[in-house]
Amino acid sequence: MSHRTGAVLSIGDELTLGQTLDTNSKWVSDRLLAHGVVPVEHATVPDDRAAIAAAIRRLAERADLVVVTGGLGPTADDLTRAGLADAMGDQLVEDAAAVAQIEAYFRARGTPMREINRVQAQRPRRGVCLANPNGTAPGLYGVVRVAKGDVDVVCLPGPPREMKPMFEAEVVPRLKLEAGRHVMTRALHTFGLGESEIATRLGPLMDRDRNPTVGTTASQGVVSCRIRYEGAGDGASEIGKIETEVRTRLGPYVFGADGDTMASVVLDLLRRRGEALSTVESCTGGLLGTMLTDVPGSSDVYVGGWVTYTNTMKTFEIGVPAELITRAGAVSREVAEAMARGGRERSGAAHALAITGIAGPGGGSEAKPVGTVWIARSGPGGDEARKFLFVGERANVRDWSARSALAMLRLALIGERGVKLGRQVE
Ligand code: AMP
Ligand code: MG
Repeated sequence: MSHRTGAVLSIGDELTLGQTLDTNSKWVSDRLLAHGVVPVEHATVPDDRAAIAAAIRRLAERADLVVVTGGLGPTADDLTRAGLADAMGDQLVEDAAAVAQIEAYFRARGTPMREINRVQAQRPRRGVCLANPNGTAPGLYGVVRVAKGDVDVVCLPGPPREMKPMFEAEVVPRLKLEAGRHVMTRALHTFGLGESEIATRLGPLMDRDRNPTVGTTASQGVVSCRIRYEGAGDGASEIGKIETEVRTRLGPYVFGADGDTMASVVLDLLRRRGEALSTVESCTGGLLGTMLTDVPGSSDVYVGGWVTYTNTMKTFEIGVPAELITRAGAVSREVAEAMARGGRERSGAAHALAITGIAGPGGGSEAKPVGTVWIARSGPGGDEARKFLFVGERANVRDWSARSALAMLRLALIGERGVKLGRQVE
């Protein structure tokens, strides 16, 4: 049967016990989707022969293709070969060509093959070994018969550096894709609205039985709307229509698409105007600068900045009057504005962003609870400052602060200064 859907099975005690993060499933799913095979399930089982066989059979009933990773090593706890054979109702046999390949692998490294590695050349009698140029474990390909028909199963080694090249070389050419049918995705990223507000605005667009489908995921304040088309029609135009609809409903909160980050979008906007940016950070300790410099090529826009953590540094480095800090407090509109102005003047950049706040867990008071953050912006269109009350742990407060600063600058650059951001209180 053609491969419309895929399932990914990860095998290993270290995964089920929580000692190793399962990155293989993420990678494999991403690659399957890129080829038009929709991943419908991930499963993880320990190094247990019966559990592996049962999981392979169950996933074969669920999907058209099952990709298994892990458990192909030479030791007693590597049971994927046996599990696959059981799932196929087959027996293990030794593959002479695979033995030769493993021997050659060792010979190339100047040692003879250990007898323990011979087991890695076993395959189900009706299965096929897949060459592994990067390690000793060959992959396996087999067919499992379930009620709906014959389902392809491929088993790849667990180490990502062996698994990935084998996927490209051995799995991609075996994909059975239907001509004309394809899967396309588009992600639109927003900042400043909560997920429930977004869902309310999108309304019936998020109904699960539509094509394209629209789903949302939230991470550190960024809510992404994922649009996915599946079918034989003109996916680009179908996705385009929904994208227009989503943008209309969410307005200026949509800041970018697919690989865009808030920092990359702000840098692009500034680059187009030929204007530079500087930063002055207190409670974020350089996080804003990190987000900006995470973007390759940021140096033509971002000139640099200051981390002025103490009051003394705010005064000596940026020229915030000591008297102002005493009178208004380090976390205040006045100090945030003075930090932004000072950063702009001393850097010579057209724009500056400044952040001062209480990241916690200590340091809060009734008047200024943990999470209180003032963010100021100074630039050609005039200065502004906003007060936020962020929730969550220290890392959250810092992350939201840096992103909100970028969001303020972005809104100013697109002429939407009046748009209120999430958690903004003043
Ligand atoms: P294996 O010998 O094939 O069972 O896998 C050996 C090593 O591959 C493990 O010790 C892990 O470090 C890595 N590995 C296995 N499965 C995964 C997975 N799903 N995600 C990331 N790494 C993995
Ligand atoms: Mg293992």
